[in-house]
Amino acid sequence: MDTLTYLATPIEYLKGVGPRRSDILKNEFNIFTFNDLLHYYPFRHVDKSTVYQIADIQTEGVYMQFKGKIVSFQILGEHRAKRLAAKFTDGTGTLDLVWFNGIKWVEDTLKQQSSFIVFGRLTAFNNRWNISHPELIDPQNRTENAIAQHFYPLYNTSEKAKKAGLDSKAIAKLTASLLTQLHGEMPEILSTNIISQHHLISLKSALFAIHYPENQEQLAQAQHRLKFDELFFTQLKLLKLKLLVTKKNKGHVFARVGDFFNDFYHRCLTFDLTNAQKRVIREIRRDMSSGQQMNRLLQGDVGSGKTITALLVMLIAKDNGFQSCLMAPTEILAAQHFENISKQLSTMNVTVAILTGSTKTAQRKQIHQRLQNGEIDILIGTHALIENDVIFNNLGLAVIDEQHRFGVEQRAKLWEKNIIPPHILVMTATPIPRTLAMTVYGDLELSVIDELPKGRKPVITKHLYEKDRLMLFGFIKKQIDIGRQIFVVYPLIKESEKMDLLDLQAGFDNMSRAFPLPQYAIGMVHGKMKNEVKDFEMQRFAKNQTSILLSTTVIEVGIDIPNATVMIIENAERFGLSQLHQLRGRVGRGGEQSYCILMSGDKLSNEGKQRLQAMVATTDGFEIANFDLKLRGPGDLQGTQQSGIIDFKIADIIKDEQLVVYTRNLAKKLLEADPDLKATENQSIAKQLQLLIRQDNFWGMIS
Ligand code: ADP
Ligand code: MG
Repeated sequence: MDTLTYLATPIEYLKGVGPRRSDILKNEFNIFTFNDLLHYYPFRHVDKSTVYQIADIQTEGVYMQFKGKIVSFQILGEHRAKRLAAKFTDGTGTLDLVWFNGIKWVEDTLKQQSSFIVFGRLTAFNNRWNISHPELIDPQNRTENAIAQHFYPLYNTSEKAKKAGLDSKAIAKLTASLLTQLHGEMPEILSTNIISQHHLISLKSALFAIHYPENQEQLAQAQHRLKFDELFFTQLKLLKLKLLVTKKNKGHVFARVGDFFNDFYHRCLTFDLTNAQKRVIREIRRDMSSGQQMNRLLQGDVGSGKTITALLVMLIAKDNGFQSCLMAPTEILAAQHFENISKQLSTMNVTVAILTGSTKTAQRKQIHQRLQNGEIDILIGTHALIENDVIFNNLGLAVIDEQHRFGVEQRAKLWEKNIIPPHILVMTATPIPRTLAMTVYGDLELSVIDELPKGRKPVITKHLYEKDRLMLFGFIKKQIDIGRQIFVVYPLIKESEKMDLLDLQAGFDNMSRAFPLPQYAIGMVHGKMKNEVKDFEMQRFAKNQTSILLSTTVIEVGIDIPNATVMIIENAERFGLSQLHQLRGRVGRGGEQSYCILMSGDKLSNEGKQRLQAMVATTDGFEIANFDLKLRGPGDLQGTQQSGIIDFKIADIIKDEQLVVYTRNLAKKLLEADPDLKATENQSIAKQLQLLIRQDNFWGMIS
């Protein structure tokens, strides 16, 4: 049996596993084969191979052991704060040790003896190194040799698994026995070239050392090699997909920029485009005239002017005799796009229509008809656009607004709207850091509008507590008196929708008392309202017939009301950072100074406080996204949850940012030189890639 076949053996055939444990391994840890077990990496190692010196400590968070003496110890505090604190020295420095449990036992031990090897996790506390609940080892009982052997893996496990006897130790036994059975056989998945050029250790050594390293250096090398593999093959997969797509999909050639574009540009545009907008339009034009289908992601912070950019691009489609469509995630947003774009195009011979879930049947039929015979140039709408009965005459360009609300599948559906698929432009305000974009949207080209229109004043952001509410009301009054409008947003979390609506209602009652008619008019919108009512309320606010609009997050994306200068967010600690940023983006759209007020209860978690502080500190969406990533990890970032492709075992998209960029370039070069991976040298890579492709149905989703 060759090694590959051997590695594909179902896990129940490994000695010591059996049917019961194999079920657990499958269900709890996704371990189906021998190979999966090899790639079930320990989350940490206990390194008792080295005795360190206190003077050598560099960072907290690491586990280390030291040999020395307890200098003093005492019991402090009472009741739940009761603890035993000890000072420990090895002659190079001192450590604080502390125990909260088992105090009696520790005290007895320390009374009998003062020399120990201590082992544990270092933290820095009050500028001193500290270990809580260290392991105390009697140095007399251990030879130097025994210490050296103590370098062992710890595996994540679960309660269920533990009940079946599969604790970390048992898993370690399984990996050890599997590695022994392999007799050092392990086929390579990279080319010898790449391995030597990038000073990688072999896959075989890496898999041994990731479980059973001899020292820290070996462990680091193993981690590096496996991260490299993970990132390199992810990029290779995405780039290969892109290659397939562009090869398969000839694009419409938009050769001319003609009267519609130019007329609009010179006659209707009421402001100068920013340089970033101009650059992006050039990038898009280049794509659309290349003869290949465009698949481009347009990233731009809230308010950076993506819509007008898209409109200009749609006019290029019209110049070349093609239809285009603009798909938005909500009815409100689609309606607003329709209204703005219709207004902007009112003096031009371009036909715009809107199609959403609430379009009446008669009207819908009529739109279908006019779309099919080419009367409609630009169709704006929601998901309704991608339904099967929507047939275009010749769709040349599809724009998708706020991409994070749509999945890859929906994008793919648009491709089918024409024999030659339309050019695709997806727009997002979720400021995904470049590395993440590279990974999540690796199949798309990236354009960035990294400049806001001139004259925008940064929104002033303040974090206020409940006790400041009277002051807040005073501020609102002043703003309304000078003619401005106010948004107040309440969180809406699905599980407690009823509760949340009560919050909104209570807020409405409160505000109505503080801001009574006829002097003040207040409107309210939420997701449970009928669309007509919602639209009516939105319209009243847009026309400044109401000065305060209370809402749940239905106004989150895209709404553009320049006269609204204050955004108040209630229970701001319950929102994610990117959501807060989106909401703040609803103000600061005109020339007036705008404000964002984050209201929170008086009690806040540390993380909650940090998040609100980040919002106060910066208005830069990229900084906020980076902060969010660091705080919560990429899994929580909007738009990445569904993708599933950033579910790495060992790589960390933030910490290993450089390696992401590096492996992407490497994968690019490789495919440029050998697009089909036919070279003998690349056979192992080709084989592994195929295996990965078969594993996830990623491709099926798109093509
Ligand atoms: P977003 O990128 O968030 O979708 P919008 O496209 O809604 O932003 O644009 C926000 C506002 O800025 C709109 O009122 C738009 O007309 C205006 N705008 C866009 N580009 C410019 C520009 N270059 N100069 C001045 N105002 C602009
Ligand atoms: Mg927008």
